[in-house]
Amino acid sequence: MVERASDIKTVQEAAREVKVCREADVVVVGGGPGGHSAAIAAARSGARTVLVERYGHLGGMATGGIVIQIPHMSDGTEEQQIIGLTQEWLDRLDVVGGCLHPKREDIGSSDEKLVAYWRRFMGNVIHGRIKQTAWVDPELLKCVLNDMVEESGVKLYLHSWGTQAIADKGKVQGVIFESKSGRQAILGKVVIDGTGDGDLLPSAGAEFDGRLDPKIRSSNLALVFRLGNCDYQKYCDFREKEPERFRELMAELARVAGTRLVPLPSPRNDVLWVNNWIPDLNCMNVEDLTTLEVEMRKIMLRGHDFMKKNIPTFENSFIMDTASQTGTRGGRRLIGECIVTKEDLQAGKKYDDAIAVIPRFDALGDTDHVQIPYRCLVPTKVDGLLVAGRSFSSDMAANNMVNLIPHCIAMGQAAGTAAAIAVKDGVNVRDVSIKALQDSLARQSVPLPQVSSTSS
Ligand SMILES: Cc1cc2nc3c(=O)[nH]c(=O)nc-3n(C[C@H](O)[C@H](O)[C@H](O)COP(=O)(O)OP(=O)(O)OC[C@H]3O[C@@H](n4cnc5c(N)ncnc54)[C@H](O)[C@@H]3O)c2cc1C
Repeated sequence: MVERASDIKTVQEAAREVKVCREADVVVVGGGPGGHSAAIAAARSGARTVLVERYGHLGGMATGGIVIQIPHMSDGTEEQQIIGLTQEWLDRLDVVGGCLHPKREDIGSSDEKLVAYWRRFMGNVIHGRIKQTAWVDPELLKCVLNDMVEESGVKLYLHSWGTQAIADKGKVQGVIFESKSGRQAILGKVVIDGTGDGDLLPSAGAEFDGRLDPKIRSSNLALVFRLGNCDYQKYCDFREKEPERFRELMAELARVAGTRLVPLPSPRNDVLWVNNWIPDLNCMNVEDLTTLEVEMRKIMLRGHDFMKKNIPTFENSFIMDTASQTGTRGGRRLIGECIVTKEDLQAGKKYDDAIAVIPRFDALGDTDHVQIPYRCLVPTKVDGLLVAGRSFSSDMAANNMVNLIPHCIAMGQAAGTAAAIAVKDGVNVRDVSIKALQDSLARQSVPLPQVSSTSS
C-alpha cells in the first residue's frame, strides 16, 4: 500500500543551535572501504580531514559486515590492475599475519600445483591461472585501518552517526552528527558521503535513485556469521570427491534454513564465514533491517544445526560471531555527472576522466577492462559534495557489477584525492583538474590508462 503524505502524522521539531565541534577541509562520513580510503587519500594529499563513523571501528562491510574476501584485483595475467590502497591493506595485513592470498610472483602462473591449491578458494583462479584475491581477518583489519588513520593525521570520530548534511544555496558546507556527546556539527569545504547507503544525499539536496530490483544480487540483504572449529580443506576434499552429494546437501541446507547459505574460507583453515542472500527487504527501511536481524538469526540456528549433523567439517563447529553491520549490498545511488550503465561496463567504455581500472571477473588479459569515471562521484547540481563507495552514480545493474570492496576503495581513494585538490586549488569538486587528479593517483600506485606513476 502506498502511504499518502496526508496519511502521515508528523510532529514539529523545535529549531535549535548546534555546536560546531570542528572545522576542516574535508569531512568524510562513513569509514568503510570507500570512506576510509577517501579520508586517508585526502589527508595524505595535505587536507585537514575528519572522518565520522557510526560504529566503534572502521572497515564497514570488510570488518563489521564480515565480508572478508577482497577479490578480482588482477586479470589472470602477471599484471595486477587494482593496487593503490587495496594493496596497502594487504601489505599491512601480511605484516600481522591477517591475510591469505597468492604471492605476488605467483600471479598469472599456470603451475598445476599452485592452481590446484588456489582453485579451492573462490576467485583465485581464472582460466587456469592464478589471480589476486585476498582473504582477510576482520579483527586485524580493524587495527590496520586505525593505524592508517592515525599515521595520516585524520581526526577520527567513532560512535558518531552522520545524520544530516549542512547545505545552503546548493552548496554542502558540513555535517551534523549524533553521538553520546549530543548533536554536533563539523564544517568542511568538501563533504564526502562514504556511508555506502548514501545517507547524506537527501539532506544535501543531491539527486539519487533508491530503486532496488529484488532479482539482482545487490538488492539482497544479509547477516553474515562465522563458524569456528571447522576444517576448510576437509570441506573441499568432500566437495571434490562427492560433488553430487555435496550439491544435494547444499540444496537441502537452503531448504531447511529457508535461504541459501554458502560457507566461504578465511585466512584460518578452522574458521569459515557464511554468506547469505535475503530478498525483498529494503536496507533504507528500519523495520526491514529489524526483520532481517531477527529472522536471520533463526535461519542461522536452523542452518548450523543441519550443517553440524550432515556436512563433513562442521561436526564440531560452533557459531563464532555474527556481523555487527547488516549486510547491505545496495542503497541510494547518486545521480551524478555521469551515470555508469551495465552496457558501458560490458562494452569496456573508456573515459578521459578514468580514476580506476577494474578487471572483469572472467577476464584473461587486458581486453576490455572496466573503467570508472571521476564524474560518477560528483553530483549533478549540489556543490561541495562527493560520494565514495557503492553509492556511486550508476544504474542498478552496473552498481551490482562494480561495488565490491576493491572497487569502493579505488573510488574512495579518488574522491579523497580530488577533494584535497579542490581545496588546494580553491575550485569546486566538479572543476578539479582531471590531469592533476590522475597524476596524483598514479603516484599513489593506482594504475590508470595512459598515466605513468612518474607523472609529476
Ligand atoms: C553479504 C555481503 C557479501 C559481499 N561479498 C563481497 C565479497 O565477497 N567481496 C567484495 O569485495 N565485496 C562483497 N560485498 C560488497 C561489499 O562488501 C560492499 O559493496 C562494500 O563494502 C561497500 O563499501 P562502502 O564503503 O561503499 O560501504 P560499507 O562497506 O557499507 O561502509 C559504509 C561505512 O559507513 C558507515 N556508516 C553508514 N552510515 C553511516 C552514517 N549515517 N554515519 C556514520 N557512519 C555511517 C558504516 O558503519 C560503514 O563503516 C558483499 C556485501 C555483502 C553485504
